[in-house]
Amino acid sequence: MSELASQREIDRSQMQISEEVAIQISGMNKWFGQFHVLRDINLTVYRGERIVICGPSGSGKSTLIRCINRLEEHQKGRIVVDGTELSNDLKNIDKIRSEVGMVFQHFNLFPHLTILENCTLAPIWVRKTPKKEAEEIAMHYLNKVKIPEQAHKYPGQLSGGQQQRVAIARSLCMKPRIMLFDEPTSALDPEMIKEVLDTMIELAEEGMTMLCVTHEMGFARQVANRVIFMDQGQIVEQNEPEEFFLNPQSDRTKLFLSQIL
Ligand code: ADP
Ligand code: MG
Repeated sequence: MSELASQREIDRSQMQISEEVAIQISGMNKWFGQFHVLRDINLTVYRGERIVICGPSGSGKSTLIRCINRLEEHQKGRIVVDGTELSNDLKNIDKIRSEVGMVFQHFNLFPHLTILENCTLAPIWVRKTPKKEAEEIAMHYLNKVKIPEQAHKYPGQLSGGQQQRVAIARSLCMKPRIMLFDEPTSALDPEMIKEVLDTMIELAEEGMTMLCVTHEMGFARQVANRVIFMDQGQIVEQNEPEEFFLNPQSDRTKLFLSQIL
């Protein structure tokens, strides 16, 4: 697929990274029962960064990004998102969730709601946006992901690639400042991967702060300013893409790259 994504010209120089910290994770650990799934995670994400997280299956990638919007709870260390610390304070959790959008491998659309309704549900019920305004915003983002004509259909009537673009549009309707992607293309047929990656590339070009768990190394090369490699619950290595791919440092990274490239 790397050739597919690279057909799209992007201007990396346009992609500004600010000095403002978007996410600060320090000394973070998480256990599932006895199982120590995340170990001493330290990660600072600056606004405008586009980070790709890769690593073997089971290395803790999903758990890490799920901790950032509290879909999973960490037990030790700190996670601060946009200046708000994640704790048991429900107000903080709500605030962070309203600023962080998430897109999953399986699109998680509501099957009994139309595409438009999927996109307006949270704005209307969580944000208290008036219905008409929420619909206008939804149509704006459905246009952006290039499927406005699907607004009145149900998810089951759309292709996987279209459903994933709806999932992205639905997230954007909440006007997030940070987007988390967890293997957004790995459930898609090859011909649909490009349309989803192109949508993500556009978001990146617009300056969205993004953390993407993906094995699309073409996307990583083209869009990421930083690639993070995880193994066994740890961040083993991180670097800018060129260095990461050409000059991996640890044996674990070398082994992983030799298996996927
Ligand atoms: P990755 O996304 O890198 O494949 P995950 O974060 O999904 O890895 O999982 C990391 C490890 O944690 C795996 O060994 C997985 O089996 C385990 N795990 C994930 N979710 C749970 C859970 N809810 N309860 C117990 N173990 C879990
Ligand atoms: Mg995962």
